[in-house]
Amino acid sequence: MSPNPRTCVGCRRKDVRKNLVRIAARDSAAEVDEQATIPGRGAWIHPDPGCLNRANRAHAFERALRAQNLDMTKIGLWLESIVSRDVHDGASQEAKKAGRNPMGTR
Ligand SMILES: [Zn+2]
Repeated sequence: MSPNPRTCVGCRRKDVRKNLVRIAARDSAAEVDEQATIPGRGAWIHPDPGCLNRANRAHAFERALRAQNLDMTKIGLWLESIVSRDVHDGASQEAKKAGRNPMGTR
């Protein structure tokens, strides 16, 4: 396997492919292309809210995918699932480490 770095469209940093997620456009909707099977152009991004927000503000997906008025609904849902998963994992790990329930997490 070669490192074959990609550039994140959010933070513009190069990273290895396994740390990035491919976003591709299908029927003018941006989709998370986890298996990298959607033909055509792809945009690579870290599964990170900061990178996604930055890419959104800069219209980086539209530019990378050569598409206009991209429907970002699926990307938004994907990001929400990542964020809630991270928060959940973090909280349970903290709880294990501390040996008690974390205080007031909503
Ligand atoms: Zn990034």
